[in-house]
Amino acid sequence: MLNALTVDVEEYFHPNAMDDVVAPSQWEVLPRRVEDNTRRLLDLLAGQAVHATFFVLGWVAERYPSLVRDIAARGHEVACHGYAHRLAYRLGPEQFRADVGRAKGILEDLLGREVQGFRAASWSIVNASLWAFDILIEAGFAYDSSVFPIRHDLYGIPEFSRVPICITRPAGRIVEIPASTVRLAGRNWPAAGGGYLRLLPFGFTRWAVRHLNDAEHMPAMVYVHPWELDPSQPQLPAGWLTRTRQYRNLRHTEPRLRCLLREFRFGRLRDAFAAALHAAAAGASLPLSDSAAGTDTPPSGASRS
Ligand SMILES: [Zn+2]
Repeated sequence: MLNALTVDVEEYFHPNAMDDVVAPSQWEVLPRRVEDNTRRLLDLLAGQAVHATFFVLGWVAERYPSLVRDIAARGHEVACHGYAHRLAYRLGPEQFRADVGRAKGILEDLLGREVQGFRAASWSIVNASLWAFDILIEAGFAYDSSVFPIRHDLYGIPEFSRVPICITRPAGRIVEIPASTVRLAGRNWPAAGGGYLRLLPFGFTRWAVRHLNDAEHMPAMVYVHPWELDPSQPQLPAGWLTRTRQYRNLRHTEPRLRCLLREFRFGRLRDAFAAALHAAAAGASLPLSDSAAGTDTPPSGASRS
C-alpha cells in the first residue's frame, strides 16, 4: 500500500510553540536554515526514489522561489502551508482568508499552475475554526490536511473522522485527509509524524504504519519538517515543554525516516489518497454543519465516507 509522505516547509523559528519566544520581526534577522535543510531532504528522497507532498509556507516561497520550483521539478507535489504560520483559530476568518490567499497566489505564480492541497499551521483547524473549510473551498483547494483527530493542548478534534472524508459546507465541498492515528484503549493516538516520530519509541511508529496498512487497509500519512533533520540548528530560549517537543531526538529523525522509506512504500499525498479524492470528485459526500463549530459535539461528518 502506498503511504503519504508530507513535508511542512518552514524555518526552525516558525513553529507556533515559538510564538512567544520569536516575534515575526525577528524572522528577517535570524540565521536561515530552511533552504539547505530542504535540499538535503530532497537529496535523501531522490536517493530512495520517493516522491512526497511539500506544504510550503508562503513566507519561505517568497524568499526561496527556486527552491519551490526545484521541489516541483523533482516530481514532488507542492501544496500550501499558509503565509505566516499563524494559527487559524487565532486569526479569525478575515485574516485567515488573507493569509491563505496570499500564500496560494505566491505558489501558483511561481509554478504556473493550481495548488490543490492545504495544511494549516500546527493543525489549527479545530471545532472553533471550522469556518476555515469555507475559506479553503472558496480559495479553490481540493483537499485539506489540517485536522488531527486527537486530544492535545494546542490542537485537535478528538471525535473527528480518522479516515478521509468529503466535507460539505455552505461554500461547497472539500476532502479532509486527517493526520494519522491509531485506536487503542478507546482513544485515538498520534502516529508517524513530527514530534511523535522523534519522541515515541520507533517500534511504535513502525507498528502503527503496519497496523494502518494491514489491519485498517488505509495509508498512513507521515509528516516531517526540514528543521527536524537539522540537529545543529540554533536553539531558541523556550520553556522546557517546547524545548522537548522541538529539540529532543533531532538526530533520530533522518535515520528513522530512512528506515520507514525502506520498509514501507511512500508517495505524494494526492497519490496515496487518490481513492478518497476520486470518490469525493464522483459525488460521495458527508455533511459537516456549522453547528459543530465551537462545541465538543462530534462533527456530523465524523465517519467513514
Ligand atoms: Zn508548520
